[in-house]
Amino acid sequence: MPVSDKFISTKKLAVFGNPIAQSKSPLIHQMFAKQFNMTINYERILGEPSTFVEQLATFFADPDSVGANITMPFKEDAANWATEKSTGVIQANAANTLIRQAQGFRAETTDGEGLVSDLLRNDISLLGKRVLLIGAGGAARGAIEALLCQQPAHIYIYNRSAENAERLVSIADDDRVSAVSENACEKLAVDVIINATSLSLSGNVPAISDSIFANKPAVYDMVYQDVDTCFIKKAKSLGCVKAIDGLGMLVGQAAESFYLWFGVRPDVEPVLEYLRQQLAKG
Ligand code: NDP
Repeated sequence: MPVSDKFISTKKLAVFGNPIAQSKSPLIHQMFAKQFNMTINYERILGEPSTFVEQLATFFADPDSVGANITMPFKEDAANWATEKSTGVIQANAANTLIRQAQGFRAETTDGEGLVSDLLRNDISLLGKRVLLIGAGGAARGAIEALLCQQPAHIYIYNRSAENAERLVSIADDDRVSAVSENACEKLAVDVIINATSLSLSGNVPAISDSIFANKPAVYDMVYQDVDTCFIKKAKSLGCVKAIDGLGMLVGQAAESFYLWFGVRPDVEPVLEYLRQQLAKG
């Protein structure tokens, strides 16, 4: 049923972050809403670290404010602010989606669902596969539960700081997850590599041996750019046929947020295609 009925007030949504001007979330959600003939008001809000919680309260004081997306650096604050949390939020101590409930607010993290949906969209199954997850920051923490749900044989975690990798292993609390050192990485044979570090943003690749690419694993970089990221370029140059960037994850996590707010699943394909074209135009 179209939700754009004139007797139904326009639902308000927002993305909070700092910086926020670059966020594609308003565009993505407006495109999703159009698919269902819905009218939404989705704004960018520049969060201020000292007053973020007050900003949330002000936004949600309007009963038409049904939800919000949260990005860096407020994911932890949002998780703590919510009155109800998903298991993924408790594990990651971070939330990227807030949903108004009859009483209070629920915090969810949809990055993991976004990643998995994009892997599957690209025919990368994790069932019975050996996965190398590079990075142990918020994105890796938010993804681990969703990755495990895909029944991989094992997830090896390599991270610059071994302490953070070990922390992620204990968060996952699963025999199929272990931390590996740079040296141990050299001897691994893996089917899928997921780069969950921010390294590609600065044009750098993780410090792992090229031997990890010997099996021609499927490669996923959570970062996306207008051209192949340096990690994608490296994987392709070493013969990996499937090397995918994180634009589909971005749209996938947004689709999951939209579903949590409105109970309907948007089609990600036209949105992804449009964003890819826009990126290519620069
Ligand atoms: P965090 O800051 O929480 O974590 C950063 C990670 O990158 C840590 O594992 C950190 O290692 C590692 N890292 C940073 N700099 C270096 C370096 N110089 N050398 C080696 N390792 C380094 O960020 P997030 O986890 O939230 O995000 C990671 C990336 O994923 C970001 O670039 C973000 O844009 C992207 N992302 C994409 C999404 C999408 O939808 N496509 C969604 C979420 C994130 P250490 O622990 O040692 O500091």
